[in-house]
Amino acid sequence: MPDAWLASYPGVREHEPLARHSWYRIGGRARYFLELADDAALPKLLARLDRDQQPYLVIGAATNSLFAAAELPGLTIKLVTRRLSIAGDVVSVSAGYLMPKLAAETAKAGRAGLEFGAGVPGTVGGSIFGNAGAFGGEVKSSLISADVIDRQGRRHTMTADECAFGYRDSVFKTAREGWAIVSARFRTTSEAPRVVRARLLEVQTHRRATQPIEQRSLGSTFKNPPGEAAGRLIDACGLKGTRIGGAQISVKHANFIVNLGGATADDVLALMAEMRHRVFERFGIELEPEVRVIGRAPGG
Ligand SMILES: Cc1cc2nc3c(=O)[nH]c(=O)nc-3n(C[C@H](O)[C@H](O)[C@H](O)COP(=O)(O)OP(=O)(O)OC[C@H]3O[C@@H](n4cnc5c(N)ncnc54)[C@H](O)[C@@H]3O)c2cc1C
Repeated sequence: MPDAWLASYPGVREHEPLARHSWYRIGGRARYFLELADDAALPKLLARLDRDQQPYLVIGAATNSLFAAAELPGLTIKLVTRRLSIAGDVVSVSAGYLMPKLAAETAKAGRAGLEFGAGVPGTVGGSIFGNAGAFGGEVKSSLISADVIDRQGRRHTMTADECAFGYRDSVFKTAREGWAIVSARFRTTSEAPRVVRARLLEVQTHRRATQPIEQRSLGSTFKNPPGEAAGRLIDACGLKGTRIGGAQISVKHANFIVNLGGATADDVLALMAEMRHRVFERFGIELEPEVRVIGRAPGG
């Protein structure tokens, strides 16, 4: 058995239900699953997986991932590393650190520039992967560099330029797919903690007013087409409140699909297909998913 070593690797669990780790509470199983609070062993682990041609996936808080496979093959690695240090302008943080906590801790220390993180419920790693942004701020504007591990287990430090950020896009989605982001450095500026905190609270207030944050979702389902808002297009098609199984297009924000309880990946994918179809039919615009659909939906 080429993967027997995986079953006995320290901390690995077999057939782990992914719904448990998904912000959406949706998902099949992971054939092998490992939660890492310490990433020191990651280079060797990735090298071994590569040598054995075992597929793997690195995830953070799974606030942008729809687990759509009945069973995800290979190893799913969840990073829950929680290192943070602040030295002058530079904030160093591990990939598993949560963005809202990063925003809160830097505000407390009087460091400005990461307040937008209060609107992004995922981890630093997931946010670099997708160049997350909210209310005017984005990862691209303040990232200095990211430490990453390639498929052969080699470490690299990549500058923001090398990450090739675009709108909800980075090189990690294309040419560097499968590279694990382990830590990052952000540039901040100095400002009175109460001023930074006030901006952070503004982000939270605006979020609460515009997004269904009291319900389970993956945030924006589709990217905004150039010069347009995906939510406006979907709303104009009269789709708010449309329901398939346990999934519903939010009545508060048409670009959010909420899990009313018991939604399946198929329910969400069917709603996404309907949204794309209706918007294309009416406006001739093809919506591009912002959420990551991982694996294949059972039966489709
Ligand atoms: C209510 C709500 C509101 C949201 N609002 C926003 C918003 O305003 N702006 C915004 O940009 N996003 C928003 N999101 C989406 C989401 O929070 C972000 O995309 C976030 O950056 C994802 O981080 P994560 O840790 O959850 O990533 P995951 O969902 O765990 O992973 C996302 C992708 O990144 C990859 N990945 C994760 N960690 C790593 C790593 N360490 N190394 C390499 N690859 C990795 C995964 O393989 C996957 O392909 C929202 C989500 C919710 C639920």
